[in-house]
Amino acid sequence: MKSINKALYVTRPILPSFDSFCEQAKEIWDSGVLTNNGPKVQELERALTQYLKVSNTSVFCNGTIGLLCAIKALDLSGEVITTPFTFPATPHVLSWQGIKPVFCDIEEDTFNLDPQKIEALISSETTAILGVHVFGNPCHIVEIDEIAKKYGLKVIYDAAHAFGVEVSGRGIGSFGDITMFSFHATKLFHTLEGGGLTFDNALLEEKIYSIRNFGIENEDLVSMVGINGKVNELQAIMGLLNLPDIDAKIIERKHLFDKYQDNLDGINGISLHMPVEGIRPNYQYCVIRVDHELFGMSRDDLYEEMKQYNIFTRKYFYPPCYQYTHYREEKAKFPVTEKVSSEVLCLPIYNGLDSVLVKNVCDIIKELSMARV
Ligand SMILES: *Cc1c(COP(=O)(O)O)cnc(C)c1O
Repeated sequence: MKSINKALYVTRPILPSFDSFCEQAKEIWDSGVLTNNGPKVQELERALTQYLKVSNTSVFCNGTIGLLCAIKALDLSGEVITTPFTFPATPHVLSWQGIKPVFCDIEEDTFNLDPQKIEALISSETTAILGVHVFGNPCHIVEIDEIAKKYGLKVIYDAAHAFGVEVSGRGIGSFGDITMFSFHATKLFHTLEGGGLTFDNALLEEKIYSIRNFGIENEDLVSMVGINGKVNELQAIMGLLNLPDIDAKIIERKHLFDKYQDNLDGINGISLHMPVEGIRPNYQYCVIRVDHELFGMSRDDLYEEMKQYNIFTRKYFYPPCYQYTHYREEKAKFPVTEKVSSEVLCLPIYNGLDSVLVKNVCDIIKELSMARV
């Protein structure tokens, strides 16, 4: 059977040329401005606002702190309805602020919040809905918006997977009250570590700026409980150099994704998670579902077997949030999440990945399936 010589991981960060980074860094050395909302950070915010097709962008030291500040900026409290099929950052930012995450089961097609199940979870304590655009597929934005309006709730989206995604030509960050993006090195667009908040309401801009900077409003006034969420100039130039290439990177990833689609086609029990209709996808992830019965092997066994071939896949998202020590709840309440979480597997997809390796990965999956029959 084919084997892969060098360990293959699910992702690898994009990087600008080293020389271009040094050239930009020279400007920072010359100016002596390293941080505190410097010129490169402001330039990055303007560039992102344009690229993401949004009205306002505030960048942060990472996405998690950005999300924490979004919750603070909207004065949320009590309970917030969110998904159990996400990364730990999503529910944890609520808990950090003494807010109870109320988990709502997901739907089978998109792995996103099931809007049919939200209303039953709303109580007198509920202040918001926090949705995640899982693997870049948008939440049911219209339905969530209707529910939020009906009950006077705020809406926040975690778009850590959805950089550059558009819905009918609209930027994904233009929906809800605030949207968070992660610019972590493993995400499509990155600033080493980083994040961003996008929002329509211009009144939020000063508040978010102040929360990001310790709650300092001006030299004489500290008006809020803030935090240090600032971005430094080196992070900003990494972003400014990566951004112009993103469209080309998305096209390159689409080719890799298509190659997976062609080569996985016809393998019994393996289904590729597809972008929904009507969006511009970003191909940040390549996710399959493994049907134990049909494939003849469980997701966990496939994950282990692939390691033997030097392929290190990831179980995103497993375990589901309601199984974390802090949140323990019965799984019976989340049958869809329970199932999806036990069947998903992220395969390697990144810029620079040799498409021959994609074929090899698929061949190995195929041979493993036949070996079990
Ligand atoms: C990566 C990620 C985050 C956290 O972003 P950081 O920038 O690493 O803090 C939050 N939510 C989801 C769904 C993510 O994938």
